[in-house]
Amino acid sequence: MKTTTHPIAVAIDGPSGAGKSTVAKILAKELQFIYVDTGALYRAVGYTALKQGVSIYDAAAVEAMLPSLTVSLGYENGEQRVYVNGDDVTAFIRTPEVSEAASAVSAVPSVRQFLFELQQNMAKTSSVIMDGRDIGTVVLPDAQVKIFLTASVEVRAKRRFDELIEKGMDVTYEDVLSDMIQRDKRDSERATAPLKPAEDAVLVDTSDNTLEEAVARMRALVEEKLV
Ligand code: C5P
Repeated sequence: MKTTTHPIAVAIDGPSGAGKSTVAKILAKELQFIYVDTGALYRAVGYTALKQGVSIYDAAAVEAMLPSLTVSLGYENGEQRVYVNGDDVTAFIRTPEVSEAASAVSAVPSVRQFLFELQQNMAKTSSVIMDGRDIGTVVLPDAQVKIFLTASVEVRAKRRFDELIEKGMDVTYEDVLSDMIQRDKRDSERATAPLKPAEDAVLVDTSDNTLEEAVARMRALVEEKLV
């Protein structure tokens, strides 16, 4: 691996359930980079809207909520935590309701603007693996490595379904699949920062890969770019 005094940025974008966070977390540990899950930031905003009774589909109401909101990130035992006005909300942001709220509020330009600086600052002082939807295109356009990670929507829905069941949630595969199709559509068709590969991103489809295979493929890509 090349040694450098400048922080290195690895941008991983792709649709929900492609395995971005699982793969990025392992890779970050192996490379001793900081893992930044940007979806958690949008989830924190979506969660707050639900909690405050703000309609997630009313862009003006969501925007009006932002001035009284502080979202920040921290790390505990190597795990990312997300805080809203100082309160740790990490445990509450993985439900299907919050997934929907995050997707809805992330289409509001002022929400994206609100979270932009926090994301950029994370990469200024440390080497990061950052995952999201617009990291390679908008947040870190100069990232040394850009990967667009994807898999078929059925494979992604199955992975997310298994994850939710493991957490003890009461969901059906059909519901998870239809939510995912809807979120994919909204994420890729929105006007601001739509989900799309950066021109210089490497496309990695993990439909036929195990987790270990996906990590190895990604690690090889990072090493190839940095050596
Ligand atoms: O990655 P995760 O599923 O946690 O993201 C939740 C939602 O946040 C996504 O459906 C997407 O709409 C939004 N998001 C985004 N830009 C990012 C990360 C997430 O718009 N960089």
